[in-house]
Amino acid sequence: MFYKSYQRIRADLDGKRITVAQIVNHHLGKIEEHNPSLNAFLEVFKEEALTKAVQIDLKLNQGIAGRLAGLVIGIKDLFCLKDHIVSCSSKILEGFESQITATPIQRLLDEDAIVIGRQNCDEFAMGSSNENSAFGLVKNGVNQSCVPGGSSGGSAVGVQTDMCQISLGSDTGGSVRQPAAFCGVYGLKPTYSRISRYGLTAYSSSFDCVGILSKSIADAELILEIIAGNDERDSTSSREKVPCFSKSTIKSNRYKIAYFTEINEAEGIANSVSRMMNQTMSSLKASGHLLEKVSFPYLEYLLPTYYILTSAEASANLARFDGVRYGFRDLSISDLESMYKKSRTNGFGPEVLRRILLGTFVLSSSYHDAFYTKAQKVRQLIKDYTDDILKDYDFIISPTTATTAFEINSKTINPVEMYLSDLFTVQASVAGIPAISIPAGEDENNMPIGLQVMAASFEEEKLFSFSKSFKTM
Ligand code: GLN
Repeated sequence: MFYKSYQRIRADLDGKRITVAQIVNHHLGKIEEHNPSLNAFLEVFKEEALTKAVQIDLKLNQGIAGRLAGLVIGIKDLFCLKDHIVSCSSKILEGFESQITATPIQRLLDEDAIVIGRQNCDEFAMGSSNENSAFGLVKNGVNQSCVPGGSSGGSAVGVQTDMCQISLGSDTGGSVRQPAAFCGVYGLKPTYSRISRYGLTAYSSSFDCVGILSKSIADAELILEIIAGNDERDSTSSREKVPCFSKSTIKSNRYKIAYFTEINEAEGIANSVSRMMNQTMSSLKASGHLLEKVSFPYLEYLLPTYYILTSAEASANLARFDGVRYGFRDLSISDLESMYKKSRTNGFGPEVLRRILLGTFVLSSSYHDAFYTKAQKVRQLIKDYTDDILKDYDFIISPTTATTAFEINSKTINPVEMYLSDLFTVQASVAGIPAISIPAGEDENNMPIGLQVMAASFEEEKLFSFSKSFKTM
């Protein structure tokens, strides 16, 4: 019962060849089969999903079911779902029950989608391998000695192994695209502000985006169409019109596509990944697209800018987890100050502590201008430069990652090496533009490779149309 897209699920539901209850049972079966070894789901809402399924089957029979009846989704453990636990894969929030439902989740529920469970991720979305979860690492379904990528690793593996049809993740610097590339699924980070962040736990508010992991572009289009758009609960959410992506009439054109010399020649890029890029570029040329080399002089500034700004914002956002208001409190305390200190020291894992310390340092009065203010200026330069390229070109293409999924534990001792795995994804995050990772073949060990396509702000419709033509090449 593998469905590449929801459209086919719906056709079978409408043709009475299948029921929602059977679909839910199918995914529950996959979870039972894979989750004990892969650890992608932290919690499965089995009874609730089965009860919902029966109700939605009734609605289908009465002809009153929503647009997503029979769609089974998994949600990253960063999204609030009322009366359900949201722990951000952190001990500090262990057992914390949410009192609200995130807007994108609510919009899916309103169309009769079913949430099947809560997915493992790097703690507070900080990481690139899903090894930073307080509740155990996640393994890649293609090869269990490899990581699935991060931070939305559980969400990518959920789709990869058909434990759910789609997942909602979050992408601050690549956390949807990078695991999508490592797991062989589609991963979309829309334009910053396209989707409301209400109910998504904040990591770095000026970068955080809700993202979609799917088995097809068609599903990404449909889901984006339903969850995007202004929300009065998130004043930063955009008022830009949301096109009807799933019924788009944009014909795939001959496009003008840029690629960066610096990236294709970057150090540490795997042979299999360069090969994929070369083949992709030749086949794009053969289909009539115009490809041009463009220089990107800011490559070496991307990661420092990203990590300075996101750590600064994280140190402010995570100040609310203090042992008083939420979750974990260390009880071996003598006074108020030691309660804060011990709760935070023992509640957060090492990577989150590192980011809080780094962020507090770059915001401290003596270093503020040297780091934080400077990084903001560089962010603007990168954004302007990127926007300018996208005035001349329809897309910028690159590999999503320099290598395929790496071995578990191979980068945990060296954080800088871990940060390097975000090198190609952070540009879109710094610039706030949409980007997608498309499955683009495999390496010699059958590990998936991802192609990244970036477009100008709010050009998701064009991005989808191009991505679809790429698939059929
Ligand atoms: N790996 C990056 C980081 O650790 C990206 C994370 C994300 O996009 N949430 O910050």
